[in-house]
Amino acid sequence: MQYASTRGHTASQNFSEILLGGLAPDGGLYLPVSYPQISADELNIWRGLSYAQLAFEVLKKFATDIPEADLKSIVERTYTADVYCNVRKDEEAAQITPLRVLQEDHGGKLILQALSNGPTLAFKDMAMQLLGNLFEYTLARQHAELNIFGATSGDTGSAAEYAMRGKKGIRVFMLSPHRKMSAFQTAQMFSLQDPNIFNIAVEGVFDDCQDMVKAVSNDLEFKQRQKIGTVNSINWARVVAQVVYYIRGYLSATTSNDQKVSFTVPSGNFGNICAGHIARMMGVPIHKLVVATNENDVLDEFFRTGVYRVRKSAETWHTTSPSMDISKASNFERFIFDLLGGDSARVAALFRKVETEGGFDLSGKPGSDGDEFAKVARFGFESGKSVHTDRLQTIRHAEQKYGITIDTHTADGIKVALEHLEAGVPMIVLETALPAKFNETIREALERDAQRPAGFENIEALPQRFVVMPANVDQMKAYIASNTGL
Ligand SMILES: *Cc1c(COP(=O)(O)O)cnc(C)c1O
Repeated sequence: MQYASTRGHTASQNFSEILLGGLAPDGGLYLPVSYPQISADELNIWRGLSYAQLAFEVLKKFATDIPEADLKSIVERTYTADVYCNVRKDEEAAQITPLRVLQEDHGGKLILQALSNGPTLAFKDMAMQLLGNLFEYTLARQHAELNIFGATSGDTGSAAEYAMRGKKGIRVFMLSPHRKMSAFQTAQMFSLQDPNIFNIAVEGVFDDCQDMVKAVSNDLEFKQRQKIGTVNSINWARVVAQVVYYIRGYLSATTSNDQKVSFTVPSGNFGNICAGHIARMMGVPIHKLVVATNENDVLDEFFRTGVYRVRKSAETWHTTSPSMDISKASNFERFIFDLLGGDSARVAALFRKVETEGGFDLSGKPGSDGDEFAKVARFGFESGKSVHTDRLQTIRHAEQKYGITIDTHTADGIKVALEHLEAGVPMIVLETALPAKFNETIREALERDAQRPAGFENIEALPQRFVVMPANVDQMKAYIASNTGL
Protein backbone atom coordinates (compact mmCIF):
# COMPACT_ATOMS: atom_id res chain seq x y z
CA MET A 1 0.00 0.00 0.00
CA GLN A 2 1.42 3.36 -1.07
CA TYR A 3 0.58 6.82 0.28
CA ALA A 4 0.49 10.21 -1.46
CA SER A 5 -0.22 13.78 -0.42
CA THR A 6 -3.67 15.38 -0.71
CA ARG A 7 -1.90 18.24 -2.53
CA GLY A 8 -0.40 16.05 -5.21
CA HIS A 9 3.26 15.57 -4.19
CA THR A 10 3.87 12.46 -6.26
CA ALA A 11 6.73 10.57 -4.62
CA SER A 12 4.60 7.96 -2.89
CA GLN A 13 5.70 6.41 0.36
CA ASN A 14 4.96 3.26 2.32
CA PHE A 15 3.38 3.03 5.77
CA SER A 16 6.65 2.95 7.75
CA GLU A 17 7.96 5.98 5.87
CA ILE A 18 4.97 8.19 6.70
CA LEU A 19 4.66 6.78 10.24
CA LEU A 20 7.36 9.00 11.74
CA GLY A 21 6.77 12.06 9.56
CA GLY A 22 4.11 14.75 9.76
CA LEU A 23 2.87 16.76 6.79
CA ALA A 24 3.89 15.83 3.25
CA PRO A 25 6.65 18.05 1.78
CA ASP A 26 4.02 20.08 -0.15
CA GLY A 27 2.08 20.81 3.06
CA GLY A 28 -0.66 18.25 2.34
CA LEU A 29 -1.73 15.21 4.35
CA TYR A 30 -0.98 11.62 3.41
CA LEU A 31 -3.73 9.30 2.19
CA PRO A 32 -3.48 5.81 0.68
CA VAL A 33 -3.56 5.95 -3.13
CA SER A 34 -6.77 3.91 -2.89
CA TYR A 35 -8.86 2.70 0.05
CA PRO A 36 -8.57 -1.06 0.60
CA GLN A 37 -11.99 -2.71 0.44
CA ILE A 38 -13.64 -5.02 2.96
CA SER A 39 -15.69 -7.82 1.42
CA ALA A 40 -18.97 -9.16 2.81
CA ASP A 41 -17.21 -12.46 3.57
CA GLU A 42 -14.53 -10.66 5.56
CA LEU A 43 -17.13 -8.75 7.58
CA ASN A 44 -18.86 -12.04 8.40
CA ILE A 45 -15.64 -13.66 9.58
CA TRP A 46 -14.67 -10.55 11.54
CA ARG A 47 -17.86 -10.73 13.61
CA GLY A 48 -16.25 -13.49 15.65
CA LEU A 49 -12.86 -11.86 16.22
CA SER A 50 -11.43 -10.27 19.35
CA TYR A 51 -10.55 -6.57 19.22
CA ALA A 52 -6.83 -7.33 18.74
CA GLN A 53 -7.54 -9.86 15.99
CA LEU A 54 -9.77 -7.37 14.21
CA ALA A 55 -7.17 -4.61 14.55
CA PHE A 56 -4.62 -6.92 12.93
CA GLU A 57 -6.92 -7.70 9.97
CA VAL A 58 -7.60 -3.99 9.39
CA LEU A 59 -4.04 -2.77 9.92
CA LYS A 60 -2.46 -5.33 7.61
CA LYS A 61 -4.40 -3.80 4.72
CA PHE A 62 -2.64 -0.49 5.37
CA ALA A 63 0.77 -1.43 6.79
CA THR A 64 1.71 -3.84 4.01
CA ASP A 65 5.44 -3.15 4.46
CA ILE A 66 5.49 -4.50 8.04
CA PRO A 67 5.89 -8.31 8.19
CA GLU A 68 2.57 -9.82 9.31
CA ALA A 69 4.01 -11.72 12.27
CA ASP A 70 5.55 -8.49 13.61
CA LEU A 71 2.36 -6.51 13.11
CA LYS A 72 0.37 -9.22 14.87
CA SER A 73 2.61 -9.16 17.90
CA ILE A 74 2.50 -5.33 18.08
CA VAL A 75 -1.30 -5.31 17.94
CA GLU A 76 -1.65 -8.12 20.48
CA ARG A 77 0.56 -6.24 22.93
CA THR A 78 -1.48 -3.05 22.41
CA TYR A 79 -5.12 -4.06 22.74
CA THR A 80 -5.17 -6.02 25.99
CA ALA A 81 -7.63 -6.02 28.87
CA ASP A 82 -4.77 -4.87 31.14
CA VAL A 83 -4.29 -1.65 29.16
CA TYR A 84 -8.02 -0.88 28.68
CA CYS A 85 -9.08 -1.69 32.21
CA ASN A 86 -10.92 1.43 33.45
CA VAL A 87 -14.31 -0.10 32.81
CA ARG A 88 -17.51 0.05 34.77
CA LYS A 89 -17.86 -3.74 34.86
CA ASP A 90 -15.00 -6.23 34.83
CA GLU A 91 -16.34 -8.38 32.01
CA GLU A 92 -16.21 -5.34 29.73
CA ALA A 93 -12.40 -5.06 29.83
CA ALA A 94 -11.86 -7.89 27.36
CA GLN A 95 -14.07 -6.13 24.81
CA ILE A 96 -11.75 -3.04 24.77
CA THR A 97 -14.56 -0.82 23.36
CA PRO A 98 -17.76 -2.23 24.94
CA LEU A 99 -21.18 -1.11 23.68
CA ARG A 100 -24.07 -0.16 25.94
CA VAL A 101 -27.64 0.31 24.70
CA LEU A 102 -29.02 3.56 26.18
CA GLN A 103 -32.49 3.48 24.67
CA GLU A 104 -34.37 1.12 22.37
CA ASP A 105 -37.22 3.30 21.17
CA HIS A 106 -38.30 6.96 21.47
CA GLY A 107 -37.56 7.43 17.76
CA GLY A 108 -34.60 5.10 17.40
CA LYS A 109 -32.02 2.93 19.15
CA LEU A 110 -29.21 4.81 20.89
CA ILE A 111 -25.94 3.05 21.78
CA LEU A 112 -22.80 4.31 23.55
CA GLN A 113 -19.45 2.85 22.48
CA ALA A 114 -16.85 3.26 25.24
CA LEU A 115 -13.47 4.39 23.91
CA SER A 116 -11.98 5.83 27.08
CA ASN A 117 -10.94 2.81 29.09
CA GLY A 118 -7.23 3.31 28.40
CA PRO A 119 -4.57 4.72 30.75
CA THR A 120 -5.49 8.43 30.32
CA LEU A 121 -9.28 7.97 30.31
CA ALA A 122 -9.81 9.43 26.83
CA PHE A 123 -10.25 7.95 23.35
CA LYS A 124 -6.84 9.22 22.23
CA ASP A 125 -5.31 6.20 23.97
CA MET A 126 -6.95 3.94 21.36
CA ALA A 127 -4.57 5.20 18.67
CA MET A 128 -1.68 6.53 20.73
CA GLN A 129 -0.98 3.22 22.49
CA LEU A 130 -0.58 1.57 19.09
CA LEU A 131 1.60 4.44 17.89
CA GLY A 132 3.97 3.96 20.84
CA ASN A 133 4.51 0.31 19.95
CA LEU A 134 4.77 1.01 16.19
CA PHE A 135 7.33 3.79 16.80
CA GLU A 136 9.47 1.61 19.06
CA TYR A 137 9.41 -1.22 16.51
CA THR A 138 10.20 0.98 13.49
CA LEU A 139 12.97 2.91 15.25
CA ALA A 140 14.62 -0.33 16.35
CA ARG A 141 14.57 -1.64 12.76
CA GLN A 142 16.18 1.59 11.51
CA HIS A 143 18.61 1.82 14.47
CA ALA A 144 17.20 5.32 14.90
CA GLU A 145 15.89 7.46 17.73
CA LEU A 146 13.13 10.06 17.97
CA ASN A 147 12.49 13.02 20.25
CA ILE A 148 8.83 13.91 20.33
CA PHE A 149 8.24 17.58 20.96
CA GLY A 150 4.75 18.97 21.47
CA ALA A 151 2.43 21.25 23.38
CA THR A 152 -0.71 20.23 25.20
CA SER A 153 -3.57 21.74 27.12
CA GLY A 154 -4.59 18.28 28.32
CA ASP A 155 -5.63 15.09 26.52
CA THR A 156 -3.10 14.76 23.69
CA GLY A 157 -0.02 15.30 25.83
CA SER A 158 -0.97 12.80 28.46
CA ALA A 159 -2.02 10.18 25.88
CA ALA A 160 1.35 10.63 24.15
CA GLU A 161 3.32 10.33 27.39
CA TYR A 162 1.50 7.20 28.53
CA ALA A 163 2.04 5.64 25.10
CA MET A 164 5.76 6.47 24.91
CA ARG A 165 6.85 6.00 28.54
CA GLY A 166 9.68 3.51 28.84
CA LYS A 167 9.90 3.00 25.05
CA LYS A 168 13.41 2.43 23.68
CA GLY A 169 14.74 5.09 21.31
CA ILE A 170 12.03 7.62 22.19
CA ARG A 171 11.97 10.70 24.42
CA VAL A 172 8.98 13.00 24.92
CA PHE A 173 9.35 16.74 25.60
CA MET A 174 5.88 18.05 26.38
CA LEU A 175 5.10 21.71 26.98
CA SER A 176 2.05 22.76 28.98
CA PRO A 177 0.97 26.15 30.34
CA HIS A 178 2.18 26.40 33.96
CA ARG A 179 -0.71 26.09 36.47
CA LYS A 180 -3.36 26.28 33.72
CA MET A 181 -4.37 22.62 33.43
CA SER A 182 -6.78 20.99 35.87
CA ALA A 183 -5.25 19.41 38.97
CA PHE A 184 -6.22 15.97 37.68
CA GLN A 185 -4.65 16.47 34.23
CA THR A 186 -1.50 17.99 35.74
CA ALA A 187 -1.15 15.07 38.14
CA GLN A 188 -1.71 12.55 35.37
CA MET A 189 1.21 13.90 33.35
CA PHE A 190 3.59 15.14 36.03
CA SER A 191 3.40 12.01 38.19
CA LEU A 192 5.15 9.98 35.47
CA GLN A 193 8.64 9.17 36.71
CA ASP A 194 9.97 7.56 33.52
CA PRO A 195 13.37 9.02 32.57
CA ASN A 196 12.36 9.37 28.89
CA ILE A 197 9.43 11.71 29.70
CA PHE A 198 10.17 15.43 30.13
CA ASN A 199 7.32 17.63 31.37
CA ILE A 200 7.98 21.33 30.82
CA ALA A 201 5.61 23.80 32.46
CA VAL A 202 5.89 27.05 30.50
CA GLU A 203 5.27 30.38 32.20
CA GLY A 204 2.55 31.48 29.78
CA VAL A 205 -0.67 30.31 28.13
CA PHE A 206 -1.24 27.42 25.72
CA ASP A 207 -0.64 29.69 22.69
CA ASP A 208 2.85 30.52 24.03
CA CYS A 209 3.58 26.79 24.19
CA GLN A 210 2.37 26.29 20.63
CA ASP A 211 4.44 29.25 19.42
CA MET A 212 7.52 27.64 20.92
CA VAL A 213 6.79 24.34 19.17
CA LYS A 214 6.44 26.24 15.88
CA ALA A 215 9.67 28.19 16.44
CA VAL A 216 11.60 24.98 17.11
CA SER A 217 9.98 23.20 14.13
CA ASN A 218 10.93 26.07 11.83
CA ASP A 219 14.60 25.68 12.77
CA LEU A 220 15.27 22.81 10.36
CA GLU A 221 18.90 22.39 11.33
CA PHE A 222 18.03 22.00 15.03
CA LYS A 223 15.09 19.77 14.20
CA GLN A 224 17.27 17.41 12.17
CA ARG A 225 20.17 17.30 14.57
CA GLN A 226 17.88 16.68 17.55
CA LYS A 227 15.70 14.17 15.61
CA ILE A 228 12.53 16.06 16.52
CA GLY A 229 9.15 14.58 15.60
CA THR A 230 5.50 15.04 16.57
CA VAL A 231 2.48 12.90 17.32
CA ASN A 232 -0.30 15.30 16.34
CA SER A 233 -3.71 14.29 15.08
CA ILE A 234 -2.77 14.40 11.38
CA ASN A 235 -0.57 11.32 11.91
CA TRP A 236 -1.91 8.70 9.49
CA ALA A 237 -1.33 5.72 11.80
CA ARG A 238 -3.52 7.37 14.42
CA VAL A 239 -6.35 7.68 11.90
CA VAL A 240 -6.01 4.04 10.82
CA ALA A 241 -6.00 2.78 14.41
CA GLN A 242 -9.33 4.56 14.86
CA VAL A 243 -10.88 2.88 11.81
CA VAL A 244 -10.83 -0.36 13.82
CA TYR A 245 -13.34 0.72 16.47
CA TYR A 246 -15.86 1.91 13.87
CA ILE A 247 -15.80 -1.59 12.40
CA ARG A 248 -16.01 -3.14 15.89
CA GLY A 249 -18.97 -0.86 16.69
CA TYR A 250 -20.72 -1.79 13.46
CA LEU A 251 -20.20 -5.53 13.99
CA SER A 252 -21.28 -5.46 17.63
CA ALA A 253 -24.46 -3.49 16.92
CA THR A 254 -25.65 -5.67 14.00
CA THR A 255 -26.17 -9.35 13.26
CA SER A 256 -25.92 -9.30 9.45
CA ASN A 257 -24.33 -7.16 6.76
CA ASP A 258 -27.60 -5.91 5.31
CA GLN A 259 -28.09 -3.81 8.45
CA LYS A 260 -26.71 -0.30 8.72
CA VAL A 261 -25.69 1.86 11.67
CA SER A 262 -24.99 5.58 12.10
CA PHE A 263 -22.33 7.22 14.28
CA THR A 264 -22.29 10.53 16.12
CA VAL A 265 -18.81 11.78 16.99
CA PRO A 266 -17.80 14.61 19.35
CA SER A 267 -15.40 16.42 17.03
CA GLY A 268 -12.58 18.94 17.08
CA ASN A 269 -9.75 18.32 14.65
CA PHE A 270 -11.84 15.89 12.56
CA GLY A 271 -9.40 13.05 13.33
CA ASN A 272 -11.87 10.72 14.99
CA ILE A 273 -14.70 11.09 12.46
CA CYS A 274 -12.25 11.01 9.55
CA ALA A 275 -11.62 7.39 10.56
CA GLY A 276 -15.39 6.77 10.33
CA HIS A 277 -15.37 8.24 6.83
CA ILE A 278 -12.54 5.87 5.87
CA ALA A 279 -14.37 2.85 7.33
CA ARG A 280 -17.37 3.83 5.20
CA MET A 281 -15.19 4.24 2.08
CA MET A 282 -13.81 0.73 2.74
CA GLY A 283 -17.33 -0.66 2.48
CA VAL A 284 -18.56 -0.82 6.09
CA PRO A 285 -22.36 -0.31 5.94
CA ILE A 286 -22.42 3.05 7.73
CA HIS A 287 -25.52 5.14 7.07
CA LYS A 288 -24.77 8.53 8.61
CA LEU A 289 -21.72 10.15 10.16
CA VAL A 290 -22.91 12.97 12.39
CA VAL A 291 -20.32 15.58 13.40
CA ALA A 292 -21.04 17.04 16.87
CA THR A 293 -19.27 20.31 17.74
CA ASN A 294 -19.33 22.56 20.78
CA GLU A 295 -19.43 26.38 20.66
CA ASN A 296 -16.41 26.18 18.32
CA ASP A 297 -18.61 25.25 15.39
CA VAL A 298 -16.28 25.51 12.36
CA LEU A 299 -17.31 22.02 11.23
CA ASP A 300 -21.03 22.40 11.95
CA GLU A 301 -20.98 25.54 9.84
CA PHE A 302 -19.39 23.69 6.92
CA PHE A 303 -21.79 20.75 7.07
CA ARG A 304 -24.78 23.11 7.21
CA THR A 305 -23.69 25.64 4.58
CA GLY A 306 -20.66 24.47 2.57
CA VAL A 307 -18.59 27.36 3.91
CA TYR A 308 -15.33 26.49 5.70
CA ARG A 309 -14.21 29.49 7.74
CA VAL A 310 -11.38 29.04 10.24
CA ARG A 311 -11.55 31.12 13.40
CA LYS A 312 -9.05 33.62 14.78
CA SER A 313 -7.77 33.01 18.31
CA ALA A 314 -10.04 35.78 19.64
CA GLU A 315 -13.03 33.86 18.20
CA THR A 316 -11.93 30.49 19.63
CA TRP A 317 -13.86 29.97 22.84
CA HIS A 318 -12.62 28.19 25.97
CA THR A 319 -15.46 25.82 26.73
CA THR A 320 -16.31 23.05 29.17
CA SER A 321 -15.56 20.48 26.45
CA PRO A 322 -12.03 21.85 26.00
CA SER A 323 -10.64 19.06 23.81
CA MET A 324 -12.95 20.27 21.04
CA ASP A 325 -11.85 23.93 21.29
CA ILE A 326 -10.28 24.29 17.87
CA SER A 327 -10.00 27.17 15.42
CA LYS A 328 -9.47 24.95 12.38
CA ALA A 329 -9.87 21.21 11.83
CA SER A 330 -6.45 19.83 10.95
CA ASN A 331 -7.68 16.54 9.40
CA PHE A 332 -10.45 18.11 7.34
CA GLU A 333 -8.28 18.27 4.21
CA ARG A 334 -8.48 14.47 3.94
CA PHE A 335 -12.25 14.57 3.55
CA ILE A 336 -12.14 17.54 1.16
CA PHE A 337 -9.76 15.53 -1.05
CA ASP A 338 -12.38 12.77 -1.35
CA LEU A 339 -15.23 15.28 -1.73
CA LEU A 340 -13.38 16.85 -4.69
CA GLY A 341 -12.87 13.44 -6.29
CA GLY A 342 -9.11 13.40 -5.60
CA ASP A 343 -8.41 16.66 -7.47
CA SER A 344 -5.19 17.52 -5.61
CA ALA A 345 -4.58 20.75 -7.55
CA ARG A 346 -7.90 22.12 -6.31
CA VAL A 347 -7.26 20.85 -2.76
CA ALA A 348 -3.93 22.69 -2.80
CA ALA A 349 -5.59 25.89 -4.08
CA LEU A 350 -8.40 25.74 -1.49
CA PHE A 351 -6.06 25.21 1.46
CA ARG A 352 -3.74 27.96 0.21
CA LYS A 353 -6.85 30.13 0.31
CA VAL A 354 -7.43 29.04 3.92
CA GLU A 355 -3.99 30.44 4.74
CA THR A 356 -4.40 33.70 2.82
CA GLU A 357 -8.12 34.44 3.21
CA GLY A 358 -9.17 32.27 6.16
CA GLY A 359 -11.42 29.80 4.36
CA PHE A 360 -13.29 28.66 1.24
CA ASP A 361 -16.85 28.22 0.05
CA LEU A 362 -18.17 25.12 -1.74
CA SER A 363 -21.84 26.13 -1.49
CA GLY A 364 -22.22 26.63 -5.25
CA LYS A 365 -23.50 30.19 -4.75
CA PRO A 366 -22.31 32.85 -7.24
CA GLY A 367 -18.67 33.68 -6.53
CA SER A 368 -18.06 30.54 -4.45
CA ASP A 369 -15.10 28.19 -4.97
CA GLY A 370 -17.19 25.23 -6.14
CA ASP A 371 -20.51 23.43 -5.74
CA GLU A 372 -19.35 20.17 -4.11
CA PHE A 373 -21.36 20.86 -0.96
CA ALA A 374 -24.28 19.25 -2.82
CA LYS A 375 -22.32 15.95 -2.70
CA VAL A 376 -21.73 15.94 1.09
CA ALA A 377 -24.87 13.88 1.71
CA ARG A 378 -23.49 11.11 -0.52
CA PHE A 379 -20.72 10.65 2.04
CA GLY A 380 -23.29 10.37 4.85
CA PHE A 381 -22.22 13.51 6.68
CA GLU A 382 -24.56 15.58 8.85
CA SER A 383 -23.83 17.79 11.84
CA GLY A 384 -25.07 19.52 14.96
CA LYS A 385 -23.86 21.77 17.75
CA SER A 386 -24.05 21.69 21.55
CA VAL A 387 -23.28 24.48 24.03
CA HIS A 388 -22.59 24.63 27.78
CA THR A 389 -26.27 24.61 28.86
CA ASP A 390 -26.90 21.63 26.54
CA ARG A 391 -24.01 19.78 28.16
CA LEU A 392 -25.37 20.32 31.68
CA GLN A 393 -28.83 19.23 30.57
CA THR A 394 -27.54 16.16 28.72
CA ILE A 395 -25.36 15.08 31.67
CA ARG A 396 -28.48 15.24 33.88
CA HIS A 397 -30.60 13.48 31.25
CA ALA A 398 -28.04 10.65 30.97
CA GLU A 399 -28.02 10.19 34.73
CA GLN A 400 -31.82 10.16 35.04
CA LYS A 401 -32.75 8.24 31.89
CA TYR A 402 -29.76 5.96 31.31
CA GLY A 403 -28.30 5.68 34.82
CA ILE A 404 -24.77 6.67 33.74
CA THR A 405 -22.45 9.64 34.23
CA ILE A 406 -21.00 10.96 30.99
CA ASP A 407 -18.23 13.45 30.37
CA THR A 408 -18.78 16.85 28.74
CA HIS A 409 -17.55 15.86 25.25
CA THR A 410 -19.68 12.74 25.19
CA ALA A 411 -22.59 14.93 26.31
CA ASP A 412 -22.12 17.07 23.18
CA GLY A 413 -22.29 13.84 21.18
CA ILE A 414 -25.45 12.53 22.84
CA LYS A 415 -27.21 15.90 22.52
CA VAL A 416 -26.58 15.96 18.77
CA ALA A 417 -27.26 12.21 18.32
CA LEU A 418 -30.74 12.58 19.86
CA GLU A 419 -31.51 15.13 17.13
CA HIS A 420 -30.49 12.67 14.40
CA LEU A 421 -32.14 9.42 15.54
CA GLU A 422 -33.94 7.36 12.90
CA ALA A 423 -36.20 4.35 13.40
CA GLY A 424 -34.53 1.16 12.17
CA VAL A 425 -30.94 2.45 12.14
CA PRO A 426 -29.04 2.15 15.44
CA MET A 427 -27.15 5.34 16.34
CA ILE A 428 -23.78 4.75 18.01
CA VAL A 429 -22.34 7.67 19.98
CA LEU A 430 -18.60 7.50 20.57
CA GLU A 431 -17.69 8.14 24.21
CA THR A 432 -14.47 10.17 24.05
CA ALA A 433 -13.55 10.60 27.74
CA LEU A 434 -14.54 9.51 31.25
CA PRO A 435 -16.27 12.10 33.47
CA ALA A 436 -13.53 12.05 36.15
CA LYS A 437 -11.37 14.08 33.76
CA PHE A 438 -13.84 16.97 33.69
CA ASN A 439 -15.12 16.88 37.25
CA GLU A 440 -15.74 20.65 37.56
CA THR A 441 -18.62 20.45 35.08
CA ILE A 442 -19.95 17.20 36.55
CA ARG A 443 -20.25 19.01 39.88
CA GLU A 444 -22.02 21.88 38.20
CA ALA A 445 -24.53 19.54 36.55
CA LEU A 446 -25.04 16.91 39.24
CA GLU A 447 -23.87 18.57 42.48
CA ARG A 448 -21.57 15.67 43.24
CA ASP A 449 -18.16 14.41 42.11
CA ALA A 450 -17.64 12.06 39.18
CA GLN A 451 -16.55 8.60 40.18
CA ARG A 452 -12.85 7.92 39.66
CA PRO A 453 -11.67 4.59 38.26
CA ALA A 454 -9.62 2.43 40.61
CA GLY A 455 -6.03 3.62 40.93
CA PHE A 456 -6.83 7.28 40.28
CA GLU A 457 -8.22 8.09 43.74
CA ASN A 458 -5.18 9.94 45.06
CA ILE A 459 -3.41 10.88 41.89
CA GLU A 460 -2.98 14.54 42.95
CA ALA A 461 -0.95 13.42 45.99
CA LEU A 462 1.69 11.53 43.98
CA PRO A 463 5.18 13.06 43.65
CA GLN A 464 5.50 15.16 40.49
CA ARG A 465 8.40 15.43 38.07
CA PHE A 466 8.54 18.58 35.89
CA VAL A 467 10.57 21.72 35.20
CA VAL A 468 9.25 25.28 34.98
CA MET A 469 10.63 27.44 32.19
CA PRO A 470 9.96 30.92 30.75
CA ALA A 471 8.60 31.13 27.18
CA ASN A 472 12.11 31.44 25.79
CA VAL A 473 12.97 29.48 22.64
CA ASP A 474 16.76 29.48 23.12
CA GLN A 475 16.48 28.22 26.66
CA MET A 476 14.11 25.50 25.45
CA LYS A 477 16.50 24.38 22.73
CA ALA A 478 19.37 24.24 25.22
CA TYR A 479 17.23 22.13 27.58
CA ILE A 480 16.37 19.66 24.81
CA ALA A 481 19.97 19.40 23.62
CA SER A 482 21.31 18.84 27.14
CA ASN A 483 18.87 15.96 27.66
CA THR A 484 19.29 14.25 24.30
CA GLY A 485 23.08 14.58 24.26
CA LEU A 486 22.84 15.11 20.47
C1 LIG B 1 -9.39 14.96 21.08
C2 LIG B 1 -10.75 14.85 21.68
C3 LIG B 1 -11.92 15.11 20.92
C4 LIG B 1 -11.87 15.56 19.47
O1 LIG B 1 -11.40 14.60 18.59
P1 LIG B 1 -10.89 14.99 17.12
O2 LIG B 1 -10.24 13.80 16.60
O3 LIG B 1 -9.94 16.15 17.30
O4 LIG B 1 -12.09 15.40 16.32
C5 LIG B 1 -13.14 14.93 21.53
N1 LIG B 1 -13.23 14.55 22.84
C6 LIG B 1 -12.14 14.32 23.59
C7 LIG B 1 -12.32 13.94 25.03
C8 LIG B 1 -10.86 14.45 23.05
O5 LIG B 1 -9.77 14.22 23.81
